[in-house]
Amino acid sequence: MQLKTDLFINGQWVKGAGSLPVMNPSTGELIAEISTADQAQCDAALTAAHDAFPAWAKTPSRVRSEILRKAFEIMTAESDQIARLISMENGKTFTDAKGEVSYAAEFFRWFAEEAVRTPGDFRHSPSGDKRILVTHQPIGVSLLITPWNFPAAMATRKIGPALAAGCTVILKAASETPLTAIWIVDIMHRAGVPAGVVNFIMPEKTGAMISRMMHDPRLRNVSFTGSTEVGRILIKESADLVLRTSLELGGNAPFVVLDDADIDEAVKGAMVAKMRNGGAACTAANRFYVAKSVADEFTQKFTQAMDDLKMADGLETGAQLGASVSRKERDKIAELVDSSVAAGAQVRLGGVTPAGDGAFYPATVLTVQKDNPILQYEVFGPVAPIVTFDNDAEAIALANSTEYGLIAYVYSSDLKRAIRTAEALEAGMIAINRGVVSDPAAPFGGVKQSGLGREGGFAGIHEFLETKYIGVEI
Ligand code: NAP
Repeated sequence: MQLKTDLFINGQWVKGAGSLPVMNPSTGELIAEISTADQAQCDAALTAAHDAFPAWAKTPSRVRSEILRKAFEIMTAESDQIARLISMENGKTFTDAKGEVSYAAEFFRWFAEEAVRTPGDFRHSPSGDKRILVTHQPIGVSLLITPWNFPAAMATRKIGPALAAGCTVILKAASETPLTAIWIVDIMHRAGVPAGVVNFIMPEKTGAMISRMMHDPRLRNVSFTGSTEVGRILIKESADLVLRTSLELGGNAPFVVLDDADIDEAVKGAMVAKMRNGGAACTAANRFYVAKSVADEFTQKFTQAMDDLKMADGLETGAQLGASVSRKERDKIAELVDSSVAAGAQVRLGGVTPAGDGAFYPATVLTVQKDNPILQYEVFGPVAPIVTFDNDAEAIALANSTEYGLIAYVYSSDLKRAIRTAEALEAGMIAINRGVVSDPAAPFGGVKQSGLGREGGFAGIHEFLETKYIGVEI
């Protein structure tokens, strides 16, 4: 299929006022030039979504559900093509990209199923004077802003529940990875979404134009996934019109290996938790806390597994570690490693930026002291700093010593001990003896500065619904 590169407004593909190059980070080559929107085009998308809202909100949920189901089927049928595109514009391996497409499509299937099950409530008031009816209604026009690291899944995780709830949307993708988002918007079009229900823009000036949209009273909701830094800006922007926001922000996940853990299993889990998506995941294990008595064995086996990975262009056969999304992002990773080494980190593996045009950074293992500065940053790359601890209480205190709280991993052979540890960890999600927990059927989200709200699970649709209480005189 021919790559689409335009904006999508009110059911039409529209040439933008400007353009933006999309690069392949594995080769440094240009993939395509996409359209960018001026302010009038951003306003037109808002008008289209606003005008389409009343009819879409009233569309029977079964009809909305069938459209989402159709989108799931198309996406599944086109998974190889989409995965190739993700790999090209994002740099991740084809295997990771295939995994992302199937995860992403699953949000359409899950919310197709949820669309027809919006709960309500009818009860007698305790005083007996009235009946209490509780119903849920779509919030209205929703702006969906997504990051580059999961260009398909972060879009479907928002479009799915928004459409299931009866909201209309304007999608804005990350400037590094718009082509995957455009493909998904095209799938929605082919699945039968009416004009104006899904719109796609890439503003010429992201901050200023999004700010203006957030000051237009026709916009009722912003769903954002990205860095905590930008999340803070959006919270401030949302204050003037008291706009509803849900925010999935950065992480700094601890991976805790207790002294009774099965070390081979912990290494297997660590490889998934660290290296899925080349380490560019908000859920990526970012700090490894390992009990002193098992630290040598864990470090040796984990370093070996990291060393075995094949780093190559994501589309090359057998590639296990692809490129970062850009040289700028890759250089940030290198800087963090360099400053960690300057602060005393020992390099066990990697740590040297390769030459060449591709934005590659090798699998890197560091052993560090517990006050090493790298432990305070989300590295977003294939870098694993390992710290040892003496007892469970110390591990918990170290794991919690961050402003983030998205996810934490715990390995232990004693389930009671693992659950006690999980309960003490400050995170919205905990993985016990697993390297991955993301699941469209589960509530995804963080505490502390990792965000507000939940996506997926039964909670996901409520990010796009208002609760209305109707008191009835009897
Ligand atoms: P980012 O720099 O925050 O960008 C995310 C999106 O926000 C992009 O579309 C970007 O557009 C847009 N943006 C930037 N400045 C903005 C502004 N002033 N107003 C409105 N929108 C603005 O994040 P990223 O580098 O793409 O993604 C990596 C981050 O996302 C990491 O911190 C990661 O942990 C987080 N993340 C979190 C989750 C989660 O579920 N918690 C999932 C995935 C990723 P431009 O590209 O045009 O600048």
